[in-house]
Amino acid sequence: MRRKLAAGNWKMNGLSSSLTEIEALVKAHPDPDIDILICPPATLLSAAVVTAADHTLAIGGQDCHAHEDGAHTGDISAPMLKDAGASYVIVGHSERRTDHGETDDDVRGKARAAMAAGLTAVICIGETLEEREAANTLEIIAGQLAGSLPDIVTAVNMVIAYEPVWAIGTGKVPTLEQIGEVHDFIRTKLVARYGDGVGNSTRILYGGSVKPGNAAEIFAVSNVDGALVGGASLKAADFSPIIAALEAS
Ligand code: PEP
Repeated sequence: MRRKLAAGNWKMNGLSSSLTEIEALVKAHPDPDIDILICPPATLLSAAVVTAADHTLAIGGQDCHAHEDGAHTGDISAPMLKDAGASYVIVGHSERRTDHGETDDDVRGKARAAMAAGLTAVICIGETLEEREAANTLEIIAGQLAGSLPDIVTAVNMVIAYEPVWAIGTGKVPTLEQIGEVHDFIRTKLVARYGDGVGNSTRILYGGSVKPGNAAEIFAVSNVDGALVGGASLKAADFSPIIAALEAS
């Protein structure tokens, strides 16, 4: 059984006043049957951990450096995130791949560092619109899985997030058949690489314009174990019905 995960990525949004959204989530879901994760900006991470202290709601980083420490101005290492109370970190988000030129090798290094620090790495993969239109989606996904995932993982320290780049923040969502095709493909690849145990126990999230209105149908798709949600995770009023839909699925 894979425990479902509703993950919110606040990106570069949120001031200390936004912590009330976490308070509201905790109140609305006092004893959830699923895992809930919020990845706030680094400036709010410690305060978010305190806000969620008496709840199972987990707090995560949005990125980490591949090294433990050193001369890397502006970067944050995985041990620093762990020390601040994070339990997850997103790596390889398409905005990092695009804005910072991160490659599959970079992402694999970050995922390794996250796991070594005791964090669960949420590894993001996904095709661009051009790649989908050229019917290259599965080839791209296979390449990203091969390149971005470490060889040694457990079912606990890795989560895969399938996020078609063209669906992130655009309001465009693939068809349920397209989502199912990619998630089933990812599952097959995970089993082939890591064996039945880890391959079948690793959670695969869908991400890209998940909203209260489309969450339930997406969560009914095979091998969708939850969602990575950007815009609709910023307000508890939007994220809460997504959490409820995942609990009901
Ligand atoms: C994301 O940031 O990972 C994401 C999926 O964003 P949105 O839900 O806004 O499309």
